[in-house]
Amino acid sequence: MTIPVPADVISRLKAVLGEGGWSQDPDRLAPKLVEWRDRWSGTTPLLVLPRSTAEVAAVVGVCAESGTAITPQGGNTGLVGGQIPDGEILLSLEKMRAVRETNVDDDVLIVEAGLTLAEAHEAAAAVGRRFPLSLASEGSCTIGGLVSTNAGGVAVLRYGTMRQLVLGLEAVLPSGEVWDGLKRLRKDNTGYDLKQLLIGAEGTLGVVTAAALKLFPVLPSRAVAIASVESPADAVALLARAKEVSGGAVESFELIGALGMDLAIRHIPGARTPLESRPPWFVLIEIASGEPGAAEAAMERLLEAAMEAGLVTDAAIAQTETQAKAFWALRENQSAAQKSEGAAWKHDIAVPVSRIAQFLETAGAALQARWPGVRIDAFGHVGDGNIHYDVLAAPGGDAPAHNARRDEAARLVHDIVMSLGGSISAEHGLGTMKTAEALSYKSPVEVAAQRAVRAALDPKRIMNPRVLF
Ligand SMILES: Cc1cc2nc3c(=O)[nH]c(=O)nc-3n(C[C@H](O)[C@H](O)[C@H](O)COP(=O)(O)OP(=O)(O)OC[C@H]3O[C@@H](n4cnc5c(N)ncnc54)[C@H](O)[C@@H]3O)c2cc1C
Repeated sequence: MTIPVPADVISRLKAVLGEGGWSQDPDRLAPKLVEWRDRWSGTTPLLVLPRSTAEVAAVVGVCAESGTAITPQGGNTGLVGGQIPDGEILLSLEKMRAVRETNVDDDVLIVEAGLTLAEAHEAAAAVGRRFPLSLASEGSCTIGGLVSTNAGGVAVLRYGTMRQLVLGLEAVLPSGEVWDGLKRLRKDNTGYDLKQLLIGAEGTLGVVTAAALKLFPVLPSRAVAIASVESPADAVALLARAKEVSGGAVESFELIGALGMDLAIRHIPGARTPLESRPPWFVLIEIASGEPGAAEAAMERLLEAAMEAGLVTDAAIAQTETQAKAFWALRENQSAAQKSEGAAWKHDIAVPVSRIAQFLETAGAALQARWPGVRIDAFGHVGDGNIHYDVLAAPGGDAPAHNARRDEAARLVHDIVMSLGGSISAEHGLGTMKTAEALSYKSPVEVAAQRAVRAALDPKRIMNPRVLF
């Protein structure tokens, strides 16, 4: 736990923000102190709710002077515990949700950090453009959180992660100074790229207060299909064909295992099996194009050729928008469906795309050898080599006993990931959950360089002190 915050610092913070700018009401604080899956809960002596960048700067200034630790929080949808305070001041961006500017010539949307992703989508649509980052928590997660975790989602294959989608940032640095880097340039070669340091920093290098986001044209031709494949290797081969056939127009290419599909159908109200067959693996493919009918035609060509080649055994193309949404719901509800099955060891890993099949085979065999009967629920973004590799207890298994083995299982899975040149956190970050573990996999040279950067910007280590190195 972080050292207790002195009473005079609390008084100064309250005075800086005034009425409505802070809270100590337990009911108001409660939802911000628990992670959505109940995996982490925390405490804070004070919730601060700044309404402007100047107010964020004033808060951080008081904390910098007094050496008081801060945990920034956006929508509290993070999956590694980094947004949950343990005695720090909790700084929520919920009152900073303005759309500052949309500019179609620059293809840019400038918004404050507390705006939700769904609201950013609406702001882009209002000027006939699209912000393509898409993930299942979009109604709650915020731009500040997405920037700070370098979020990915289901369209990384075509548009990249937040690192590729942010043109500029405004942030309050750990000194309390405001850095105005809200540029909208596609080219700017003038030294270190500070915004890229803040992206993925998980709140350790400052508070992101606003972002300039890249916009893209709306693509009216869209085709969504679910296909069955016999193996992950066939899924990877199908992805390569999909890229070729569509001329690079694949937006999403998602893998779902048979167990994940069964759980979605069992636990998600209204979910229906998309195919009559029950293959070991499903892929959800979305192709999009600006040319009317082009995506639909490419999808048909792809599936026809793949069936002829024996890569795909069965497939269904969504015929309506409602059906496309129903297909997507099967993928987006994978985590929610799994919740009803009890304890799970969760791993958010990445390996080179060419090694996905090897990873699944090796990790599956190792887990079954060590804990016979565990159920593997693997799903995720094949095009990014990112698999959400979740392991459920054997049917009727004891949840506390399963939970107690979580760290040992993570070591087993992550050792295999690292031996394949992968990453133990593909898109969720390290947070408090994986920081210590990541340290054991990083080289001393990299850890020292990261620590030097952090110490230079935050010598008192006030920003999210329990997160990262
Ligand atoms: C159902 C579900 C599906 C998800 N799917 C995906 C997915 O496909 N891809 C993916 O990448 N993630 C996914 N996530 C994880 C999560 O939504 C993302 O990590 C998201 O970026 C978190 O945003 P948030 O606003 O909720 O941030 P929070 O959870 O509040 O915070 C996350 C981290 O960012 C820091 N932070 C937040 N705001 C700021 C700020 N303004 N300045 C500095 N630091 C800040 C926090 O301190 C914390 O370390 C999913 C989560 C859920 C619940």
